[in-house]
Amino acid sequence: MRASDAGLTTELADLEARQLYRSRRVVSRREAGARVELDGRTLLNFCSNDYLGLAGDQRIGEAMKAGVDRWGTGATAAHLVTGHTAAHHALEEDLARVTGRDRALLFSTGYMANLGVFAALAGRRDLIVEDRLNHASLLDAARLSGARVRRFRHADPAAADARLSTGTHGRSFVVTDGVFSMDGDVAPLGELSTVSSRHGAWLVVDDAHGFGVIGSDGTGSLSQAGLSQSDVPVLIATLGKAIGTFGAFVAGSEAVIETLIQRARTYIYTTAPPPAVAEATRRALGIAFAETWRRDRLVTLIKRLRRGAERLGLAMTDSRSPIQPILLGEPGPALRASEALFEKGFWVTAIRPPTVPEGSARLRITLSAAHEEHDVDRLVDALADMDVTGPQSDG
Ligand SMILES: *Cc1c(COP(=O)(O)O)cnc(C)c1O
Repeated sequence: MRASDAGLTTELADLEARQLYRSRRVVSRREAGARVELDGRTLLNFCSNDYLGLAGDQRIGEAMKAGVDRWGTGATAAHLVTGHTAAHHALEEDLARVTGRDRALLFSTGYMANLGVFAALAGRRDLIVEDRLNHASLLDAARLSGARVRRFRHADPAAADARLSTGTHGRSFVVTDGVFSMDGDVAPLGELSTVSSRHGAWLVVDDAHGFGVIGSDGTGSLSQAGLSQSDVPVLIATLGKAIGTFGAFVAGSEAVIETLIQRARTYIYTTAPPPAVAEATRRALGIAFAETWRRDRLVTLIKRLRRGAERLGLAMTDSRSPIQPILLGEPGPALRASEALFEKGFWVTAIRPPTVPEGSARLRITLSAAHEEHDVDRLVDALADMDVTGPQSDG
């Protein structure tokens, strides 16, 4: 073995010993109703981000095929070279309209959108204040920007206020997930907006898990909180979750979007997404916002799961979103619970540090409009059969 590999092998063994080793499972087939085939077995998927059940929708698939017929498979270059097609452009106009913003700008992924926003808007003289449970991409984005970064206690506007009071000579930003990806709770957006405007700070919201899902019209956590573009100058959301395709966008004013086009390195120096994906996403948006029954069904399923889990005395978070974690504490119990569910035909991943804080390993259950009520009942029955004890009873 090469010396370099020997060092890595030791580190990998250490991860394994601490039950933090991660591995992938190979999906061999996707079936209807949130079912997947793995190792020759059919499992009910309770851990995807396909909240509206659109990732397998045939109408969207047809739009993608038509997009390939029209555009071929690749974008051929970055947006600023030859990659920006009428399909991308029309999608950006749709996204601006849906979010009630002046403009929207497509990015290849949400991770890249977040890196790009802070590369373009923040620098050494600036201050970025972040919720401690923000998505990893927002934390990485702040660090890479070179700005001073301060984290505040989860969902605590007073703590954000205190961090902002440390002052800056440049711009300041308050950054939060709209719906927290691992806890499922919605950020206190109204109060964060008040705190931000008091300090002249920009409120930046990443609504990756809210767009398409939250609010009766599904436009996300900002419209539910009644916040406009002037309250939240930078809105980020992704298209690979509820919308069922791939990609991400930033929505905001003309000046914000033009600045991103000039300066966001993850926008400038990367190939545009395939135009067929943009065609599919346009179709998906139409379906996601028109078919309100998908959000109605989610509300029903969420209530049903919470009622069942509460009856079993499981430790849950204060979530009304399709993200419904069961807190188990240490990585070992979370892995064992995930394995036990797997044996019973349910796919629910164990989420462990560093994705979540130490001592808060969990099963991250997610619901989808592709689930039926009896799917949720079967999951609750499976949880009842298991010895699932929460972190407070870990002794
Ligand atoms: C998933 C996610 C991202 C990353 O989006 P991708 O398009 O998957 O790269 C960014 N922010 C949040 C809050 C997310 O949940």
